[in-house]
Amino acid sequence: MAWIPPLFIVIGTAAAAVLASLVFSSVREHNRVAGARSVVLLVLFLGVWFGAVALGVPEIILLLASAALIAFVALFFLPVGRAASIRVDEIQAQVDERDVIFAREDYAPGSPQYEAYYARHPDKKTMDDRMRDTPELLAPGGRFYDPVESRRIDSLFDVIRTLTTRVDGEIAAARIAPDPARLSADIQALTRRLGAADVGIARLNPMFVYSHVGRGPEQWGEPIRNDHRFAVAFTVEMDSGAVDTAPRLPITEESARQYLRGARISVALAAYIRALGYPARAHIAGSNYQIMLPPVAHDAGLGELGRMGYLISPRFGARIRLGAVTTDMPLVPDKPIAFGVQDFCKRCKKCATNCPPAAIPAGEKAQVRGTWKWPLHIERCLRFWRIIGTDCGLCMRVCPYSHPPTFAHNLIRAGIRRSAFARTVSVWGDDLIYGRNVARGFSP
Ligand code: SF4
Ligand code: SF4
Repeated sequence: MAWIPPLFIVIGTAAAAVLASLVFSSVREHNRVAGARSVVLLVLFLGVWFGAVALGVPEIILLLASAALIAFVALFFLPVGRAASIRVDEIQAQVDERDVIFAREDYAPGSPQYEAYYARHPDKKTMDDRMRDTPELLAPGGRFYDPVESRRIDSLFDVIRTLTTRVDGEIAAARIAPDPARLSADIQALTRRLGAADVGIARLNPMFVYSHVGRGPEQWGEPIRNDHRFAVAFTVEMDSGAVDTAPRLPITEESARQYLRGARISVALAAYIRALGYPARAHIAGSNYQIMLPPVAHDAGLGELGRMGYLISPRFGARIRLGAVTTDMPLVPDKPIAFGVQDFCKRCKKCATNCPPAAIPAGEKAQVRGTWKWPLHIERCLRFWRIIGTDCGLCMRVCPYSHPPTFAHNLIRAGIRRSAFARTVSVWGDDLIYGRNVARGFSP
């Protein structure tokens, strides 16, 4: 069977090329640990596989090894064990923005908001007072506070806050004739040209509109009236080099930079829709949201909600920020997507392992407002942010979906999308190459 050694060499060369692309990917990510480990893996593979031919290993062994590798690849890509997405449409209650942790941290003791809120929620008072005893985000006293860097980031958030006055405005009297398909394509193309990585349209679920104002310039406690029928949601990509610095200040600067980009896109997009004669309201960071962006972006087909609570995008994982404009312009909604995140998260748990204050559950999902999801301990998360003086982002950094969309990672994602086997193997592979405990030394 003279054909066996050549077949063995062809299969081995293809496998070595994939491993080499992993080395290339690690170099592109500037990840020394992953680079070194993938080089060792490649060298070991080359040594064993091609050494077997050089040492004259019996052909039957070469045949069996080839068959095992082919079976591995088939199992990795065959659509077996397809996983469903999270059912956010089962959510049956609105969230009051006054309950959101970013609103609660602003209630200064003695203020009318403080008195009113804790009279209604005495159970939260001790926990929130404890949080407020820690320094404010980016303020002196935080572990990574730096008088220059922290102020630079704060100045970016100040610019975002100035844009909160531009989120709504006059609607042109002359309305362009409705052509939902054409308008949808036009709006999506513009959003991309403005700098979005991805864009989608959702029918706005009223359950994702906050019930009452909790932050921002509007009257605290007022009911929020937003009955727009659609939301144009989009993602902006965060730089992977900056994300790899988590939980230090550069990731917070990157968050601020991308929030600013998202705010500009939203404001420009909303202004354009109003110029076409339809109501539109931008929702931007800096205490200006009327809607919950992650489930809206999920409905717009931009990704799935992961264990860590962020939206996981198929191309950039958790390494994104979200923006949205709500409108009554007639549009064609996109559909939610499922690419295996729920099942992968069930096996992975890397964000939970690496979250210093244990804010991400490592166990099973629980029922939250009618749907099954992993419930975050958001108070622990924010308290940790204030202790270190940054927005942490360790969970985003360690998430296997956050790797850049290189050839190697895209290949792995193609398997994860289809196969339960690929999901299990990829969790092991990610731990092997990138390490399991990345966040050692960042205890609260
Ligand atoms: S940002 Fe940090 S503290 Fe918050 S959930 Fe992620 S890892 Fe945990
Ligand atoms: S780190 Fe793992 S468990 Fe956490 S969100 Fe990412 S894929 Fe899911």
